[in-house]
Amino acid sequence: MASPDHFVLRSHRLADLTWPEIAGLRQYAPVAIVPLGACEQHGPAMAQRTDTTRAEVVADLVAERLNPRVVVAPVIPVGVSEHHMAFPGTLTLSPVTLQQMVYELVTSLHRHGWRKVFVLTGHGGNNAAVEVAVSRLRGDLPALHIAWSGITPVVSDVASELALSEIRGHSCEIETSQAIFVDPELVLEERLARGSSTVDDLDPAGRLSRSQPGIHFPQGYDALSATGNLGDARAAGKEAGARLITTAVERIAGFLRELLDLPDRKPAIGVEKP
Ligand SMILES: [Zn+2]
Repeated sequence: MASPDHFVLRSHRLADLTWPEIAGLRQYAPVAIVPLGACEQHGPAMAQRTDTTRAEVVADLVAERLNPRVVVAPVIPVGVSEHHMAFPGTLTLSPVTLQQMVYELVTSLHRHGWRKVFVLTGHGGNNAAVEVAVSRLRGDLPALHIAWSGITPVVSDVASELALSEIRGHSCEIETSQAIFVDPELVLEERLARGSSTVDDLDPAGRLSRSQPGIHFPQGYDALSATGNLGDARAAGKEAGARLITTAVERIAGFLRELLDLPDRKPAIGVEKP
C-alpha cells in the first residue's frame, strides 16, 4: 500500500469531496465507514436524530484518529424503528429496505475500489438488517472485508460500570450521557426523566420478555415504558458520555488499524483470484 505520510485529505467525508480528489485518495484511504442512524422517539428529553448524530460523530472521530486512511459515507438518517411507532414522529424503514440500502451502498463503494468496509450503526434496531446485508455482501463480493458494530455494545463493560438502573437501554443514563457529549443540543436537560428502570416498571408482557435470557419476545416501547425511555436519564452526565464515546472511538479505531494491515480476503480454495 502507498505510504499515507504526506497525503493530505481535505475531508474524510465522501460527500464533501470531488471525484478527482476521490480518485487520488483511494490508495491512501482503503477503509470506508458507513454510518447508520434512526429517526425515532428518544423519550421526553432527546431529539429523534440522537442515534444518527452519535453514529456520525463516532465515525468522524474514528476517521480523524486514523487520518488520512479512512473515508466516511453519508449517514443514513432513518433506520428500522417499528418498535417505536406508537410514539408520534418516529419514521421507520422495513428491515428488508434497510438491508438493501446497506447492500447497495457497500456495493457502490466496492465498485469504486474499496475492499475494507465498516458499517457503524448508532441504533440497535438496525442490527438484524445489517447482519443480512453483511451476509449477502460476503457471499456476493468475495474480495470484500466487511465488519460492523454498534456503539454502546463496543463499550458494554464501561456501560455496566457507569449504569445505575436495573433495566436500561433506550434513552437511559448511558445513551443520554453519550448524547450530551456528542451534541448538547440533542438533550433538553430540564425535561430528563426516569423511565422504566426496574422490572416492576414493565407491563406483564415486558416482564416476560426480560425473564429468560436466550428467548426473544420483542415488545413495542409503548408496552415497556410510558415515557418511551428505559433507565434513568436524570443520572446522565457529560463526563460519563466522554468516557463512553472516547473508549468506543479508541476501540473501533484499534480494530480498523488491524484491518488496514490485514492482507486481502482469501479466495475460495482452488480459486486464484476472487
Ligand atoms: Zn438511541
